[in-house]
Parts: sequence; structure tokens; C-alpha cells
Amino acid sequence: MKLDTRAMRHLTAEDWKVLAAVEQGSKNHELVPVPIIERFSRLKGGSSLVSKCISTLAKTSLIAKMKEAKYDGYRLTYGGLDYLALHTHSQKKHIYSVGTRVGVGKESDIMLVADHTGAQQILKIHRLGRISFRTVKTNRDYLKKNASGSWMYLSTLAARKEYAFLSALHSAGIPVPTPIAHSRHTIVMSLVDAPPLRQISSVPDPAALYASLIELYLRLAKHGLIHGDYNEFNILIREDVSTNPETGTEEITLVPVVIDFPQMISMEHVNAEMYFDRDINCVKIFFERRFHFKPTTPGPFYKDVKKTVGRDGFERLDATLEASGITKKMAKDLEAAIRQHEEEKLQNPEAFEPSDDEEDDDDEDEDEEDKEGEEANTAEKEKEGQPSIVIGFQSPSES
Ligand code: ADP
Ligand code: MG
Repeated sequence: MKLDTRAMRHLTAEDWKVLAAVEQGSKNHELVPVPIIERFSRLKGGSSLVSKCISTLAKTSLIAKMKEAKYDGYRLTYGGLDYLALHTHSQKKHIYSVGTRVGVGKESDIMLVADHTGAQQILKIHRLGRISFRTVKTNRDYLKKNASGSWMYLSTLAARKEYAFLSALHSAGIPVPTPIAHSRHTIVMSLVDAPPLRQISSVPDPAALYASLIELYLRLAKHGLIHGDYNEFNILIREDVSTNPETGTEEITLVPVVIDFPQMISMEHVNAEMYFDRDINCVKIFFERRFHFKPTTPGPFYKDVKKTVGRDGFERLDATLEASGITKKMAKDLEAAIRQHEEEKLQNPEAFEPSDDEEDDDDEDEDEEDKEGEEANTAEKEKEGQPSIVIGFQSPSES
């Protein structure tokens, strides 16, 4: 799914109203009947104006018909939901322009955007529930039967959860991007000027960096949280430069910034220990492979860390979800979708392999669910690549 904003400025105020009407109707209809679109759009021009707008929106693939539909109706496409979210961000002056794509995963697109002052920010578009082409049969059954499996619901939920945690962690002083705005399946956050750990080929002091990653992880745990995907892609390494007051030399500290929270769980979760161990192991394996560093002491262990939850004045943040209006049922649906996605990835890794096929998958008059999700995971592509950035070393002139 490619975000193509070219048609945006050609849409009239009426087109936007009709698009919003299709979104509103989608809450109760898989395919929104035309009379309902007319009613929700409240246009003075009547049905001929609505059908003109429908035709524009369908041509730009923001709404689509379905094959074998029993009545005349439309559904919102990924592109349609993207446009509505961007429209909201733009009206609230959080986004003025959309730049290049920083990353594309199976579950998200990461875009560089700018606000009206020219400040660069990150737009994360969640794409959870997009169906993998090769697993389409099992998925299709699941989705058809289960409204809580729909991509729009799941992606919106993922964004809401991520925004809620981003805000809570940011307020608690954890190094995360600054949350800026949230609309539908998207969030806007500050751009962290730091590469992911994955891209770093060497560091002067692996032991110190390892210690800071574990320390950050244990801070999350004290807040009652398990990241659940604490790996080299989701930890960005920022270089903080300061001057040593005694020697006058510049010193560089490597500061980990953590991102990507839709799978975050509570330390009280039934499988907490398993996810805790998996996260810690992930860091250990990476440090051994990349930096040939092995910690001398075992652990940290879940059972010890569990005792620290809420201690030392750490506010518990694992109730953040409920506080943000995400019900237990919603949290469960989201978790099920994320787990299903993880399993699919394990069982069918080639479905997540990069491909060059970047065709837009929202063609009109087509039930194109078969195609959705077929595209490349360039984050995976990156996994194959060599690390390219060396950071954290002082240049000879500085030392
Ligand atoms: P996904 O859920 O698809 O893994 P992430 O939130 O982990 O999405 O983002 C994917 C990649 O995009 C990250 O590995 C990182 O390189 C980049 N990225 C995401 N958010 C930011 C940010 N706020 N600042 C800089 N880079 C970011
Ligand atoms: Mg990630």
C-alpha cells in the first residue's frame, strides 16, 4: 500500500464530506449502501452531487465496490482512510506536507512529514490486519466471520494503543519520540535523529551500551510494562554530545530511544515471563553477534524484576489502556491479531520477504483482498543489509 497524496488537493469540500460519510457508514456496514452515504453526507445538492463525488472518490481509489455485491454500495479503502487521517492532521496544522517514506513494514508505513513551520516529524500509519497473500485462505475465513478482525478496526486500535503509551511514557520521562497527534490509524510524533541499533556496526564500549539498554528495559518494567518487541529495529541510538568541564573535551554518550508500542503488555500478563525473557534474549543475541559482547552476569530475571514494579516512586503505567478508553475486549482483539501476525511470520517467512511489487492495491470494482499485503517488507530487506553507520567514536581532532 503506497501513500499517494497527489489527488488530495483536487478533492472538493463535498468530496471530503462524502468520504467521511462512507467512513461513518463503515461502522455498521461492510459495504455502505448509497442511500446511507447520501444521508450521512448531508449535501444540499442531493443525490446527483453525491453520485458525482462517489465517482471522483472511486476513480481515485479512496472508496471501492466489492465483487459480487448484492446491492449498490461502497467501502473505504486503505487510501481513503489515509486521506481522512491526513486531512484531519492538516486541518489541525500538525502536517503541512508529506515527504519520503522512511520505512515500510507489514504492519506500518513510516513517513517523513513537515508541519507548517517546516519542522520535520514522523507519521506512522498502522496497517494491521492487512492480509498476507499466501495465507489468504485462513485469513479470509477469520476476517469474514469476525468483524473484530477487520483491518480498519485493528489498525485504528493499534494506533490508539501506541499513542496512549507514547504519551504515558513521554510524560514519565522515558526516552521515546514526543507524541504530537493521533487520528484514526495514524500517529504523528517527533523525528528522532538517530539510527536504529540494527544499523550500527561498532561502538567504543559495548558493555556500557548493553547496560543502558537493560537499564531502560528495567525502567519500563518498574512502570509495570513489557515492551514485547525489544529488538535492534525498535531501539534507536542517539548520540548526546557534552563538554567535560574539567578537561574541556567533547564527550559522546549513546542514549537508547525506544519506539513501537502496539504489542506492549503488562508485567501481570499471563505470558509476561515468556515475553520478558524473549526481549532480554533478543538484546543478548544481538550484542553477541554484532559486538562479540557477552554479559558476565546472568539475568535479569523476570521473578526478581517483578518485585520492583511500582517501587521507587515509579508510577504504574500498565493501566494506561483502560484509562484511554480501550476496553478489555479491544485489547484482546488487538493482541490476537498481533500474535497471529507473529505466527504467520514464523510459519511462512517467505510471505514477508521483500518483493518489487509495489502496485496500489485499491482498484475499483474489485474485491482485491487477495492482493492486499502482498507487497514488500523493506524493513525485512534491511535485515539482510550490512550495518552502515559507525557512531559514538570521537574524531581524532576532538580527542
Ligand atoms: P513497525 O511497527 O512497522 O516496526 P516502527 O515504529 O518500529 O514500525 O518503525 C519502523 C522504523 O521506522 C524504525 O525501525 C525506525 O527506523 C523508523 N522510525 C519509526 N519511528 C521513528 C521516529 N519517531 N524517528 C525516527 N525514526 C523512526
Ligand atoms: Mg518496529
